[in-house]
Amino acid sequence: MAGKVILISGASRGIGRAIAEKLAAQGHTVYGTSREPDHVVIHNVRMLRLDVTSDGSALAAIQSVVGKSGRLDVLINNAGISQWGALEEISMEETQALFDTNFYGMIRMVKQALPIMREQGEGKIINISSIAGILAVPYQGMYSASKYAVEGYSEALRHEVKAFGIRVSIVQPGDINTTIDDVESNKTIPAYAAPRARAKIIHEDSMKNAPSPEIVANVVARIVKSRRPKLRYAVGKESFVPIAKRFVPTGLGEMWVRRWFKLDAKS
Ligand code: NAP
Repeated sequence: MAGKVILISGASRGIGRAIAEKLAAQGHTVYGTSREPDHVVIHNVRMLRLDVTSDGSALAAIQSVVGKSGRLDVLINNAGISQWGALEEISMEETQALFDTNFYGMIRMVKQALPIMREQGEGKIINISSIAGILAVPYQGMYSASKYAVEGYSEALRHEVKAFGIRVSIVQPGDINTTIDDVESNKTIPAYAAPRARAKIIHEDSMKNAPSPEIVANVVARIVKSRRPKLRYAVGKESFVPIAKRFVPTGLGEMWVRRWFKLDAKS
């Protein structure tokens, strides 16, 4: 079959929307999702309601795709949120909410997709991680942790489902110019105020000057087309990080991150 049946979580804006537009333009049957799908119109994309924090919602979205198209060739787990704050400032409730979307949300979708893909004898799962999933970012530490979890889960999953014809890939975007909201922790501790504020300015500046989501969509489209997709695809201005992590001594890498975020500045 030339066109694939594809489900993308979180297609209302940003990276997910760019992926949906690209794959629909290539002639695939594309289902996108939003918690408010009635407000989202994307040419040739069928919008479904999905909240990845709900088991029932994940089941209903996957059942809806299979009910309408008879199969599910590609699941793209893109839905995600960001969290800003020092690790000491972020509450357990905020931590759980973050993981419920970024990590458990992805698991909920994968659990519903696997029986269908195993039955088909083929399928692809593409998990949108982040460069922050291999290089932890200060003041986005909890977000980084959620993406490290995505990395570990996806790497093991790839081994376990290969024999069923299911291929698992991870996409690691660097900063991408979207309106992703850095949810601020409710509690602030004055001791972190100055370095947190400096890091925020650097982060916001980087986001403003970041490439547009289409570059991620192009990589995802390559994976969809590929007969033997790789495990990891880094994309964006920071795509040098995986190679640097392999070859640059850890201490030097740490120093670079501290300078990048001005962690040791005096004021
Ligand atoms: P975005 O513009 O804020 O879009 C996030 C999408 O996720 C929206 O479509 C939103 O849909 C959906 N979403 C959020 N919570 C959800 C939930 N509980 N259930 C279902 N859908 C939910 O963010 P983005 O920048 O495109 O980020 C997309 C993915 O790329 C995320 O996983 C993010 O971590 C990752 N990423 C982003 C960057 C970056 O610099 N932007 C870099 C690396 C990785 P509704 O609100 O319509 O439901």
